[in-house]
Amino acid sequence: MARQKFIAGNWKLNLTIAEGTALVAALAKGLAEKPTKAEVAVCPVALAVAAVAAAAKGSPIGVGAQNTHWEDKGAFTGELSPVLIKDAGAKYVILGHSERRQYYGDTDALINKRLGAALKHGLVPIVCIGETLAERQGGKLEQVLKTQITGALAGFTADQLKTLVIAYEPVWAIGTGVTATTAQAQETHAYVRSVLKGVVGGLADSIRIQYGGSVKADNAKEILSQPDVDGALVGGAALKAPYFLAIIAGAG
Ligand code: PEP
Repeated sequence: MARQKFIAGNWKLNLTIAEGTALVAALAKGLAEKPTKAEVAVCPVALAVAAVAAAAKGSPIGVGAQNTHWEDKGAFTGELSPVLIKDAGAKYVILGHSERRQYYGDTDALINKRLGAALKHGLVPIVCIGETLAERQGGKLEQVLKTQITGALAGFTADQLKTLVIAYEPVWAIGTGVTATTAQAQETHAYVRSVLKGVVGGLADSIRIQYGGSVKADNAKEILSQPDVDGALVGGAALKAPYFLAIIAGAG
């Protein structure tokens, strides 16, 4: 099954609104000069989503948020709702990033609620999963990924999960400069797809599984050439137009 490669940039808590709009304009210019077959998105800080989405209008670049609350509105000071994310012009939302799990107490059960909200409002969810180095070295890789996948997707039908994107991001590779080898990435992605098969059946063949973890211009092409690697979620290297464009070019 042909899956369109999907390259998304996670800007995390970086860039001002002016810097974000300038970056998306530079990316749009780059993609106009050198079009890609890949789907491309950027996920700015929440406050910049509307401005970046406006600046991306007319380009092939979609915009996403980095998290969402599960309620549409109410007494939830400091939170962000899927209704507002859509209202700001975003199409995607990252859920369960390891930094959210590590610093803000995101659990599989909470990610499951966030996913429900994203799906209810038609946002394309990018659900992040990944193991720590201790878990991999302790032989727990498969168990950890299976728990994260089944926990996040619990209670949804395959039909509801049609737009789902999974980002496999080994925690030990995020922001460290250490990338999984292409063999590790392919092997783990194939395992993730096998778990997805158990959850959503045949739909697993069309779900995109991105790799994330120190993806750079010089390693993107090789990682993206693996049969079960359907794109990349990029942190640090998504903050500079030439680097991110080079990664997109690696997707063909
Ligand atoms: C990420 O945070 O999703 C990520 C993959 O970061 P980096 O590319 O910087 O490792």
